[in-house]
Order: sequence, then structure tokens, then C-alpha cells
Amino acid sequence: MEIIADYGRCEGHGLCVDQAPDVFDLDDAGDLVHHFEGVDVPADLEATARRAVDACPVAALRQG
Ligand code: SF4
Repeated sequence: MEIIADYGRCEGHGLCVDQAPDVFDLDDAGDLVHHFEGVDVPADLEATARRAVDACPVAALRQG
């Protein structure tokens, strides 16, 4: 399962990081870092990644 991030839409509030810290991070500038950009999220992180998608208040994340 791939998670696609819309970096232009992201507002950097970090709710996805709270839900899935092994999948997402914010860099020092407050910009979203997606550790599995362009590749499938490992199976053991899929559940938390889905929670991050649901938690994003601006719908910047979607399941691919
Ligand atoms: S929850 Fe959404 S808006 Fe907030 S950092 Fe994550 S992707 Fe960006």
C-alpha cells in the first residue's frame, strides 16, 4: 500500500506524525517528510499509516 502526499496542500501541523511517526516526520523547516515516498509502506506500518491519512485535517494524504 502506497501513501501519496500532496506537499502543496500540507500545512505542517504534524497530526500524521503523531499517528505514524515511523512513516512521517517534519524537518527542521516544518516541512513534511514521507519516509516511503514512491514506495509501498511496509505491511507492519499500514494500520498506523491509514490512521495518519484519516487524521490529516487538510486531506494532504491519500492511499494510492
Ligand atoms: S497531518 Fe496533513 S497537514 Fe499535517 S503534517 Fe501531516 S500531511 Fe501535513
